[in-house]
Amino acid sequence: MVEIFDYDLVIIGSGLAGLRASIEAAKTGNGKLKIAIIAKNQLMRPHSISAEGGSAAVLYTDEGDSFDLHAYDTVKGSDYLCDQDVVEYFVRQAPLDILELEHWGIPWARRDDGRVAQRPFGGHSYPRATFAADRTGFYEVHGLYDTMLKYENIDKFHEQFVYDFIIEDNKFKGVTAFDIPTGEIRIFKARAGIVATGGLGRLFGYTTYSHLVTGDGLAIALRRGMRLKDIEFVQFHPTGLVPSGILITEGVRGDGGILRNAKGERFMEKYAPTKKDLAPRDIVSRSMMTEILEGKGFKGPNGLDYLLLDFSAIGAEKIKEKLSQVREIGNHYVGLDPVDSPLPVRPSAHYTMGGIDVTRTGFTGVTGLWAAGEAACLSIHGSNRLGANSTSECVVFGKIAGEDSAKWLLSDISTINLSEGERSHAENFVADAYKDKGDNDPYEIKRVLWSTMDKDAYVFRNERDLTEGLKIIKGLIDRSGKISISEKGNVYNQNLIASLEMKNLVELAEVVVNSALERRESRGSHFRTDYPKRDDENYLKHTIAQRANGGLQITYRPVTLTKWKPEARVY
Ligand SMILES: Cc1cc2nc3c(=O)[nH]c(=O)nc-3n(C[C@H](O)[C@H](O)[C@H](O)COP(=O)(O)OP(=O)(O)OC[C@H]3O[C@@H](n4cnc5c(N)ncnc54)[C@H](O)[C@@H]3O)c2cc1C
Repeated sequence: MVEIFDYDLVIIGSGLAGLRASIEAAKTGNGKLKIAIIAKNQLMRPHSISAEGGSAAVLYTDEGDSFDLHAYDTVKGSDYLCDQDVVEYFVRQAPLDILELEHWGIPWARRDDGRVAQRPFGGHSYPRATFAADRTGFYEVHGLYDTMLKYENIDKFHEQFVYDFIIEDNKFKGVTAFDIPTGEIRIFKARAGIVATGGLGRLFGYTTYSHLVTGDGLAIALRRGMRLKDIEFVQFHPTGLVPSGILITEGVRGDGGILRNAKGERFMEKYAPTKKDLAPRDIVSRSMMTEILEGKGFKGPNGLDYLLLDFSAIGAEKIKEKLSQVREIGNHYVGLDPVDSPLPVRPSAHYTMGGIDVTRTGFTGVTGLWAAGEAACLSIHGSNRLGANSTSECVVFGKIAGEDSAKWLLSDISTINLSEGERSHAENFVADAYKDKGDNDPYEIKRVLWSTMDKDAYVFRNERDLTEGLKIIKGLIDRSGKISISEKGNVYNQNLIASLEMKNLVELAEVVVNSALERRESRGSHFRTDYPKRDDENYLKHTIAQRANGGLQITYRPVTLTKWKPEARVY
């Protein structure tokens, strides 16, 4: 039995991007559009709540910051792979949207003069990360959620697992999901949709991402023939707490924290003499791994050798005031209080620079379908994102996707008719997932995937490791079709969810590793030890991956340059 809901707009995901999109769509629709926002967990618990350090925006042109400076920092940080026209638009829009959040109740930290405070962040040449202690994402999600509640025409659906998009003749018609508490199958019929399902970070075992982030939207898009862009670029955040991988915000280094090797040396002075510990993340992560590989780290559990993040220059008072969550994390997870002890850290998978290929308004090329947030690739971050630029991107471009889709809906007079095939596909998909198809254990497949990605597609990559990794991943894809789900019940069936997520992850891993193999250069987060130089002549272009003719097709598209020509990245 399939339950069918009828909407104008369905928003998949309630992170910063989905929430912001819902508000703007409701506002633009002015009561005329019926909107659904759905998430696979509680709507108020998206991964976005873990954002700690801040949201970048130019607030103080009177004190020396400028749009050009923010844009240049972002372009240089991206290793010239961003589209500069989109970046220029982004930096002008971000301050307006960050200040709007202030009006919606987000408690931005203040300076002594009463103006909004900003902290330094890696790769930014001005302190422009607007923050609310070290719980920025938590406050942003709550502020946006509360604002969304003011609109009566947004229906909220918690704990719905979306497993497919309905697309016929390149026209979006809705999504299929099951209600996690009951297992009931649901079709959310809609003339328009916004994919805001976040990144693919749980491809890796050692990561700052929550277990929620399994790339579902990206995997479905890929299966439905849509394009993924620049997917080989995964950011490794320098300071993942060993051994869990939990994030220790860059705000620590912004506020004066220093990385040290086992000899006590402040090694970043050697790799980035000007920016030192606050160089962009790709550079800091590589420097850290170089130190570790040269034997200047500490021995860690399960091969997780590490370095130290030293808080002593920050001072106890400031740590307690501005970094209280980091303190809690240190105490709770490793029994160390940063007030009097450094924390053990090493680079941890943190952000997906690539995503669904979209235009500046988030349009995917499928009629009626937009994407926003980490699921989308607008080409703002290129091959390496600057810290604090993602939450701002979610807000800026979530808003635009909401507005654009609502405007389109107001002018669209089509109606959606679902074919019998789509209904039975929805039903059969879940029934099929329950069937015993072999004796492979989905959890074991995921563990092998994690160890493969952590080893073969980490900070340093090369042809041999990537080829070996790809072979293993292909084996995992094969095994992922021959599994059994031990739990057969309908109510909160975690085995079913885990196996669907695992399938999404292994399929995406193939695209990440294939795209990484094909890019025979080093740029931003993608460093090939066998091709250690950036190669603008051959690779100043976006990777486009798409399923075609039963296989994976990789093509390229030029990067848009406006003001800034590629130059050496020295920090
Ligand atoms: C620990 C951490 C700290 C960070 N700190 C910062 C920071 O300080 N500043 C900054 O700019 N960036 C930061 N980032 C990055 C930033 O937080 C994220 O890029 C951003 O919040 C992503 O938001 P989103 O709306 O795109 O997706 P998410 O917040 O990931 O939300 C995705 C939504 O999609 C839903 N969903 C997913 N799959 C399905 C499915 N199959 N069915 C139904 N629903 C589904 C989820 O339930 C969720 O509601 C941080 C990242 C991490 C990992």
